[in-house]
Amino acid sequence: MSDTDFEGRFWSKVEVRGPDECWPWSACIDRRGYALFKGADGRLKRAHILVRQLVGRPVGKKGRTEHSCGLRSCMNPLHIRDLTNESRFWSQVEKAGKDECWLWRGCLNQNGYGRTVSPSGESGLAHRVSRELVGDPIPKNLIARHTCHVRNCVNPAHILEGTQADNVRDAIAAGRMPRGEDRTGSKLKKEDVRMIRILLDTGFSQIGAARKFGVTQGTVWNIKNGKSWRHIV
Ligand SMILES: [Zn+2]
Ligand SMILES: [Zn+2]
Repeated sequence: MSDTDFEGRFWSKVEVRGPDECWPWSACIDRRGYALFKGADGRLKRAHILVRQLVGRPVGKKGRTEHSCGLRSCMNPLHIRDLTNESRFWSQVEKAGKDECWLWRGCLNQNGYGRTVSPSGESGLAHRVSRELVGDPIPKNLIARHTCHVRNCVNPAHILEGTQADNVRDAIAAGRMPRGEDRTGSKLKKEDVRMIRILLDTGFSQIGAARKFGVTQGTVWNIKNGKSWRHIV
C-alpha cells in the first residue's frame, strides 16, 4: 500500500474540525478509550501516535503522550502532547490543600517512600523530586526530610532539607526513636525496625545502625533485605 493510500485511509476515519476543536475518530476505540488503526505493517496501533507522525511531529522516543483535551480518541495533533516527566509526576499525586499531605500514588520503595524519575532522567525519591519540580531543589549533599512524617507525602511545603542528624533528632522528638535507656536487652521493637529502615534510607551504614540499636549487622541486613520483620511497615 502506498503512503498516500495509507494517509487517505487514515484521514477518512477522522472528522477534521477547527484547529481548537477535538477531531473525533470514527473507527475502532480500545477499552481505555484510545483510537486504534491498522498500521502499514498490518498491526493495530494507537491512532493518536500515528497522527503525530502524519503531520510531521512524531512523538518522543518513549511514545508517552497525553491529550490536553482529555478525550483520548481525539485526533487533533495540537491536542496530543508529549508527556513530560513533570506532568507524569503530578499525574501520580493526590493533591490536597496547601497545608495538607499530598500522597504519592505511584511506586513506593521497600521503605514506603515514593519512587520516580527526576526531570534529568535519574531515578529518585518522589519527595525530593517534588522540590526539584517546584524550582527549589535540595542540594545534593543534604537529605530531604518530611516535616509531616508521612513517607509518601510529596507536598513540597512539607519537605525540608537537612542532615542525617536532623532526621534522627526529628524522629526522637516525634517519639519514633526509643532512647537507649528505655530499652531492655537487644530485642528489637517495631519502632526500632521502622527507625532502622529510616536510618538506612537516609544513608546510615548497616554497622552504624546496628551499633545504635545494639544488634548485629546481620540483623540489620535481614531487615534491609526483607528477610525479617517484613510484617512491619
Ligand atoms: Zn481534543
Ligand atoms: Zn505531608
